[in-house]
Amino acid sequence: MKQFQYIRPATQLSVLDAITKPGTKILAGGSNLVDLMKRGVTSPDKLVDIQNLPLKGISWGKTKVLELSIGALELNSAVAENKIIKESFPLLSMALNAGASPQLRNMATVGGNMMQRTRCSYFYDTAMPCNKREPNSGCGAMEGINRMHAIFGASDKCIAVHPSDMCVALAALDAIVEVKSKKGTRAIPFTEFHRLPGQTPHLDNNLATGELITRIIIPGNRFAKNSYYLKVRDRTSYAFALVSVAAALLIEGGIIRDVNLAMGGVAHKPWRLTAAEEFLNGKQATAANFEQAAQLAMQGAKSFDHNYFKLKMAPASIVEALSKAAGLS
Ligand code: SF4
Repeated sequence: MKQFQYIRPATQLSVLDAITKPGTKILAGGSNLVDLMKRGVTSPDKLVDIQNLPLKGISWGKTKVLELSIGALELNSAVAENKIIKESFPLLSMALNAGASPQLRNMATVGGNMMQRTRCSYFYDTAMPCNKREPNSGCGAMEGINRMHAIFGASDKCIAVHPSDMCVALAALDAIVEVKSKKGTRAIPFTEFHRLPGQTPHLDNNLATGELITRIIIPGNRFAKNSYYLKVRDRTSYAFALVSVAAALLIEGGIIRDVNLAMGGVAHKPWRLTAAEEFLNGKQATAANFEQAAQLAMQGAKSFDHNYFKLKMAPASIVEALSKAAGLS
């Protein structure tokens, strides 16, 4: 591992000063970054440990509407087991508990979870070409073993998927990401935080240099009664999603009054299913409607040599997640 400098500033201002310098990376739980450094995938000159900052806490607040605030340094395990989250945002709790292992959830932070890199095996293998690790070096997965890879939004440069479960739930819950820099504070809709690969797959998200994630804000949840996170994976724990679905429904008298749907394991970012949402709004919560919505959601999907099974697995998972959320047998 290349030698690096390590600092642990006491104030947010010192952190914001330090992270404007090129070659600097923010360290929180370290559950992904340290792996990347050990393997030589990333080699920062300086680590800025932010664990002294007061960025923990889960609380209700009110600006225009009632909203939940989660500090960026809150642990994944603490969020998953928090009473408010379990009662009012069960989708988020389910997604977090579906991710990683208990040990990792005890180390990983909410901000770090958002910043984790893809688990494409060619990205981690420094002997292989990878446009994400080294721009314009090629893509090992394109003609390689690509069963874990994208079926939506891929480019000729990169077909990797985003690995987080938590982010799929936050995309479905219309969360907002609050970031701070020396220029001030800005709010990014969660669905616009992560990027598609396009011609710049080395960029995973729209965080600018010098910006620090400080908290996540989720509007008061009208979906608490009818939501479900479904994760399909190779084994039942400590495995990344082949396909996952976050389904959130507001049902009144058997009619869907509102619906938010997002998928994981299928794209370079959490993938919102807007065509399916539009179709379901105002319809009855029936298996037949869920199947039609799933077909609409799959428009534009494209598989590669080894992940063609996702073209069937994804719509089946959408139907199952919607049915479970709606309480259908
Ligand atoms: Fe790299 Fe993306 Fe290709 Fe994987 S899919 S090898 S991350 S460029």
